[in-house]
Amino acid sequence: MRASNDPVANLTAINQRIATAATAAERNPAEVTLVVVSKTYAAAAVRPILLAGHRCFGENRVQEAREKWAELTPDFPDTRLHLIGPLQTNKVRDAVGLFDVIETVDRPKLARVLAAEMARAGRFPHCLIQVNVGQEPQKAGVDPKDADALIALAIREYALPVIGVMGIPPLDQPSESYFKLLLNVAQKNNLKVVSMGMSSDFEAAISCGATHVRVGSAIFGDRAK
Ligand SMILES: *Cc1c(COP(=O)(O)O)cnc(C)c1O
Repeated sequence: MRASNDPVANLTAINQRIATAATAAERNPAEVTLVVVSKTYAAAAVRPILLAGHRCFGENRVQEAREKWAELTPDFPDTRLHLIGPLQTNKVRDAVGLFDVIETVDRPKLARVLAAEMARAGRFPHCLIQVNVGQEPQKAGVDPKDADALIALAIREYALPVIGVMGIPPLDQPSESYFKLLLNVAQKNNLKVVSMGMSSDFEAAISCGATHVRVGSAIFGDRAK
């Protein structure tokens, strides 16, 4: 389904589809949080979505998010920002200051640096462990076979507030088996949050147990290349 050029109407339609998919899976629609992915869109494009009442957003670059949300957050202080892109350790200070959820913890060094910065700043954004569910060399995320060890290290050794997992299945393949793999990592480790599903496959993700879906282009339209 293509996005119309009215992002607020698209938001309403996506919320409806989330509710329908949850109900079809015998789940409570309130268990599924929509993370509106506003990466690459300017503050002016995002503001109508805030005015419509939506408050949970995903950004993939720390610098871009910092500049954009400096304009928006003062007017909408209850906004919750998720970092969904790779995090370099030299950006950890900014990320801990800005984000409410960091979805892309994928290596021991990052877990260690995040923990140290949280202790220093006294701010403790929730963390998700990103799993490279398709074992794709070009993608971020911990290899599935190393996920349990990274989760244990992050929680036990570094006391990071890890509440779940995140994954991005390979393009051009059915996503379901990857969604099931990610759900399994969460369940084995007693983690409640499972962030999976994007514009093209969020309904399948909900049927496989997603608690968070990350949807951008189905709301804002195609991003400029
Ligand atoms: C861009 C992005 C999304 C949103 O993708 P759409 O296909 O535009 O919905 C979701 N998750 C991550 C990690 C992304 O980088």
